[in-house]
Amino acid sequence: MTTTFDLTKLLRENIRQLTPYSSARDEFKGEASVWLDANENAFGSPLDRNFNRYPDPLQHQLKLKLSEIKGVPPRNMFLGNGSDEAIDILFRAFCRPGVDNVILVPPTYGMYKVSANINDVATKYVNLTADFQLNLEGIAEAIDANTRMIFLCSPNNPTGNSLYREDVETVLANFNGLVVIDEAYINYSRQKTFIQELTEYSNLVVLQTLSKAWGLAGLRLGMAFASEEIIEVFNKIKPPYNINQATQELALKALDRVDQVNAWIKETVAERDRLSDSLRKFNFVEFVYPSDANFILVKTSDPKGLYAHLVDGGIVVRDRSNVELCAGCLRLTVGTPQENAALLAALEQYPAGDRT
Ligand SMILES: *Cc1c(COP(=O)(O)O)cnc(C)c1O
Repeated sequence: MTTTFDLTKLLRENIRQLTPYSSARDEFKGEASVWLDANENAFGSPLDRNFNRYPDPLQHQLKLKLSEIKGVPPRNMFLGNGSDEAIDILFRAFCRPGVDNVILVPPTYGMYKVSANINDVATKYVNLTADFQLNLEGIAEAIDANTRMIFLCSPNNPTGNSLYREDVETVLANFNGLVVIDEAYINYSRQKTFIQELTEYSNLVVLQTLSKAWGLAGLRLGMAFASEEIIEVFNKIKPPYNINQATQELALKALDRVDQVNAWIKETVAERDRLSDSLRKFNFVEFVYPSDANFILVKTSDPKGLYAHLVDGGIVVRDRSNVELCAGCLRLTVGTPQENAALLAALEQYPAGDRT
């Protein structure tokens, strides 16, 4: 099968024809000292900052800074109110409700399915293999004339492993729709990012976020990297001021602290590997899956009992035991050394009242 990727064929007709909202800040680009174009409060903001003004709709400064860090030009970048916004925009731009479908590869991040459901887009499921890798034959069989996108998550949530690069490349090279690779956990991974491959694959969309390694889940800043044509589609349909001024300013400041973030990544990875080894010693732990992320999937003999025991000790983990291929599994986020010690101490006490 040879790929002939044609973005205009993929784009919904109403989006192709859309005249986007044009904000005051879009229409006047020059220098001025008196801004009476956007019905803002000219007197100021109760917060004593420039919050009375609308923010930059295209976040130029922030993208320049991200461009230095990521090595990707600003024109190949979209910033969203979390990755969730980028995911939703993809559905609205490229999938006709009630007609088109997307392929998901469970067990994986839950938001793709929710976003598909919200947009009335059908979902086709091709489970990962027993070692949580892509079932390439299954994916090839599932693709039909109305399949618009395939969502891949690497490192994958909740399994923690990275997908084989060659497999991802096979999907990219053979699918005529968009291949969305969610790299929320890429900073913890031994695998290389796909953002350097944008020139190679015109159907590639890579999602990243400041919510995990960057420690900014509360700010809500997600990134999509793609061809200029795809980014133009994002910009056409996004809410005009989707990244608020506070987020733009604070993210810009945070991006100066790469050294701190890299130190945290190193420490998290060291803690992850130490915690994985410690977990393997418990007799109720059946398997500790190797992780390329900042969490660990652990197969246990009694997930519900363990979960309840940990909650009794004030420790919350994620019960994934009802998820396909994850029977018996809990997902544990790697915490600080103190938090991980508390987790291990609580596990030492399990089952409660059964110590000699
Ligand atoms: C946490 C996570 C995200 C982050 O979403 P944001 O909306 O950017 O906070 C994205 N994808 C996956 C797979 C995640 O686990």
